[in-house]
Amino acid sequence: MSRPFNFSAGPAAMPVDVLQEAAAEMLDWHGSGMSVMEMSHRGKEFGAILEAAERDLRELLAVPEHFRILFMQGGGLAENAIVPLNLSRGESVDFVISGSWSQKSFKEAGRYCSARVAASNEADGHTSLPDPASWQLDPGARYVHLCSNETINGVETHELPDLKALGSNAPLVIDFSSHVASRPVDWSRVGLAFGGAQKNLGPAGVTLVVVREDLLGHAMKSCPSAFDYKTVADNRSMYNTPPTFAIYMAGLTFQWLKRQAEGALTGVAAMEARNIAKAALLYGYIDQSAFYSNQVAAHCRSRMNVPFFLHDESRNEAFLAGAKAAGLLQLKGHKSVGGMRASIYNAMPIEGVQALVAYMRDFEKTQA
Ligand code: PMP
Repeated sequence: MSRPFNFSAGPAAMPVDVLQEAAAEMLDWHGSGMSVMEMSHRGKEFGAILEAAERDLRELLAVPEHFRILFMQGGGLAENAIVPLNLSRGESVDFVISGSWSQKSFKEAGRYCSARVAASNEADGHTSLPDPASWQLDPGARYVHLCSNETINGVETHELPDLKALGSNAPLVIDFSSHVASRPVDWSRVGLAFGGAQKNLGPAGVTLVVVREDLLGHAMKSCPSAFDYKTVADNRSMYNTPPTFAIYMAGLTFQWLKRQAEGALTGVAAMEARNIAKAALLYGYIDQSAFYSNQVAAHCRSRMNVPFFLHDESRNEAFLAGAKAAGLLQLKGHKSVGGMRASIYNAMPIEGVQALVAYMRDFEKTQA
């Protein structure tokens, strides 16, 4: 089925196959006579859906056995409070500020613990990444927070820091909301990873948390039970009613991911190869053009979120109107940055990026 290409930053485009499967199963899931939305979360049908989703995700992201996979609610923003409530013990926590989302995480954590800035790229308008060797880490910090892909600013960490090599024993917490499953994760460098599903995993409503087992069981007394990672883990994400339909859709997306192949590569490795090619095409076009620009330092440009500007900003509205007419949707940049932003998550095929580049070239010509 042909549809417009949707460049939304999230909730974002889903694979068409997944939407079609869900549509086919909407009224009667696997002969149960029920929609997934209508099932008890404690029944065997939903139990099988949850178990498969967890197993597939563990396989896709190569999550080691000593990490627990939790399906929670509240999105990335709730995790900004839930992480310090569980891990900080009200003590010192280090933040690497690399854009709007880590800034928000830092501010929220300050309500629960002593949050400090270990490094920041604020001085250059969040267009670079401070070298880990320059981070001012507190040896007593309970964890170090890093947003490994800044969705708004288009800044991505391409190699997770090795905190041990930097003299810190603190676990690294990553907010991987906007690039989860777009590339493999080096779990040896991570204590906890969290992310909302609505960019690369499925619809909004479910939040993924992958947490090392030794970090469970340290929640502050004030932490709501439903947000205590140990309670959630002990109850296999069913302490309260989980977002069943969102988990089901994420599960279909995991199955779709497992089916993807690129040469000899499969799953997330296949996605990574495609994502590298998509990003190279778009940045390559922007960089050779005198009409468009991207401000982010080359070593930390996001493969997922590509903010770009027209040199003549008075053409922005015309650019967006023409894009929409050409079947290229939701390209407007975030209001705090301006300009345009193309989010090219896993579900965006290379053809979508080719169509965008062709449109950008045509638009540039008509403006000459
Ligand atoms: N972190 C990042 C990196 C994000 O991109 C977003 C959402 N765009 C959030 C956190 C907040 O997520 P939510 O709206 O699901 O709370």
